[in-house]
Amino acid sequence: MNHDAPLLEVRNLVKHFHVGGGLFGGRAGVVRAVDDVSFSIRRGETLGLVGESGCGKTTTGRCILQLERPTRGQIVFEGRDLTTLGEDELRPVRRKMQVIFQDPYSSLNPRMTVGQIIAEPLAVHGIVPDPAQRAARVRELLGHVGLLPQHARRYPHQLSGGQRQRVGIARALAVEPALIICDEPVSALDVSIQAQIINLLEDLQAQFGLTYLFVAHDLSVVRHISDRVAVMYLGKIVEITDRKSLYDAPLHPYTKALLSAVPIPDPALEAQRERVVLGGEVPSALNPPSGCVFHPRCPIAVDRCRGEVPELREIRPGHRAACILA
Ligand code: SF4
Repeated sequence: MNHDAPLLEVRNLVKHFHVGGGLFGGRAGVVRAVDDVSFSIRRGETLGLVGESGCGKTTTGRCILQLERPTRGQIVFEGRDLTTLGEDELRPVRRKMQVIFQDPYSSLNPRMTVGQIIAEPLAVHGIVPDPAQRAARVRELLGHVGLLPQHARRYPHQLSGGQRQRVGIARALAVEPALIICDEPVSALDVSIQAQIINLLEDLQAQFGLTYLFVAHDLSVVRHISDRVAVMYLGKIVEITDRKSLYDAPLHPYTKALLSAVPIPDPALEAQRERVVLGGEVPSALNPPSGCVFHPRCPIAVDRCRGEVPELREIRPGHRAACILA
């Protein structure tokens, strides 16, 4: 295996959903949930994928996991295009890609103890067939995520939100994945707990060489953990670059608007800075605007923006943005 090659490459990913037009449906149409998205993630790297709800970031994650089959494009993981694999071939690959969900409560079976929840993937995948060894491995995994051996006997409802998310992380870690898709893993937690979980994810990444795709709806959450950040809007990536360039010198008006919504801890700076308030809602992906899809909400749009689709082009080395004025 070539270790310099990206762990994951998403190439020209398109996912359309057909809606309506059935027995009770309204007008038939196509929702362009993901519209020609490309990016790669190196081993040991964290890519933040940020955008408002409905921008296609979750669908992108589901296509990577092959929970949704893409309409077009390739998902190349460890050198193999997953879109060409059948269910049997995908099973061992799926083990290497795990998900940590936003709401650990709804993703953990309430009738199972923490120990059973963490042991389940070990048994299902035949990783640790012996029950005594499995129990020992569960205790080890609990330790990795900062929980105690006695937590194994508890049920999810007996834990705090942060502890439940630690269980979700332990379950994902159990199968020794290469890639973890973190789908808004701290959005449902108190702010005080969010930093603890982010720090834990960073520690585990360093310890086990994990690679993360970290999906979030706001830029403040991914700032600390991401090496690079991609910003999505209405099914497209509008900007992608390393963390420093994105936060210090954003190029796309949408990224600038998202950043202006992130509070600055220093009250003096916070009072001085200009806010970019976006008008309106994200338009429907069923009927996206012509030209630049951001033009109805863009504070600096010009006439050309209605007719011209901006390409995601490299404006500075390693910094790409899709805006004709950038
Ligand atoms: Fe705004 Fe036009 Fe740039 Fe789109 S292309 S982001 S509408 S300035």
